[in-house]
Amino acid sequence: MEKSADKKLIADKIAAKSSRRGQNPAVFTCQKAGAVKTPKASILPYFIPMEGCPNACIFCEQKQISSHSESPAPERIAEDIEKLNYPHELAFYGGSFSMLPKEKQLYYLKAAAKGIAEGKISAIRISTRPDSIDEEELTFLWGNGVRTIELGIQSLDAEVLHTAGRFYDEKTVFASAKLVKEKGFSLGLQLMPGLPQANYEKDMTTAQKCLAIQPDFVRIYPTLVIAHTKLADMYRKGIYEPLTLAEAVCRCRDIAAVFMANDIPIIRMGLHNTQSLQEGLLAGPFDEAFGAFVYSALAAEHMKQLQALTKCQSITANKSYLPLLFGHKGCNQAWIKEHLPNGLHGSTELQPKCIATENSIFSEKDFLLQYIDKISTK
Ligand code: SF4
Repeated sequence: MEKSADKKLIADKIAAKSSRRGQNPAVFTCQKAGAVKTPKASILPYFIPMEGCPNACIFCEQKQISSHSESPAPERIAEDIEKLNYPHELAFYGGSFSMLPKEKQLYYLKAAAKGIAEGKISAIRISTRPDSIDEEELTFLWGNGVRTIELGIQSLDAEVLHTAGRFYDEKTVFASAKLVKEKGFSLGLQLMPGLPQANYEKDMTTAQKCLAIQPDFVRIYPTLVIAHTKLADMYRKGIYEPLTLAEAVCRCRDIAAVFMANDIPIIRMGLHNTQSLQEGLLAGPFDEAFGAFVYSALAAEHMKQLQALTKCQSITANKSYLPLLFGHKGCNQAWIKEHLPNGLHGSTELQPKCIATENSIFSEKDFLLQYIDKISTK
């Protein structure tokens, strides 16, 4: 009796919230539906630092961020491809590829052509700006082996974009994203929470608006202050204060929840740690395990939600989920100690990313649907 009442309690709350959002009530079962699909292509990456960019965005210093000060020579690309034992996707990052003159684009794309013919390169991916895409360019890219386009949109807020030195608007982003998808490319979006003029609401609104685009994946990079940028000047003059690590973790946790609840893979959270980044980093929420902190924070919310609904004294979880529930470097331990006097335990019986009390099971997907309702009414 108590068992079904407890289960019903959570199921009713989910159903009520889901129907408010105009969705089918979430199925109250332990399911894998919330698992994030992460593309697992091996990438052969090349950086073309700020090539093609019409101006330097205020936060950007690609040479410092990527540790690549020079663009690659086609001979080097060809040599690298020659050594590959299995197919890779070749990527050009760090600039505005589609804003390069056509001859320069061909200069790079041709370097991969032999690799494509030999089956060593499965496809090419590029990153570029949303205001540099049109039908003709997309036809050209497709014809030269590009299959994935990552658009650095950073924000969809007009004031934030303008201040960042990105002189396009939301309409441009939607139009170019639509074209990219219509032409059959895989579409990635890069977001940058914490820019000047941004706040929690604006960054969350950007994430929610991105759902209408239905990207195939996203990357989330909280704003850092890098030397030799306009943002560094603003920071020194006290005009800009970056997010603290804790603030950035919370903001990215909620942005991540929006995408995960909608089954949009997040393929990267936070910049890679490199020596040159360390040398150029003046301030901001950097941690080499930034993503681990974000997913730990989300796992903590998962437990908090179940505990608030059931008043349970202990939680059992799928064993593989335990490291995230305890949190990176044990960051959730204090909450567990205070709110789960009978502890957090592992089980091989439960499905991935599921947690349970004695009487109820709460999947990550069900949690995420509830959670994004909760944060949307914040
Ligand atoms: S953020 Fe992108 S578009 Fe802006 S300067 Fe850097 S590489 Fe160029």
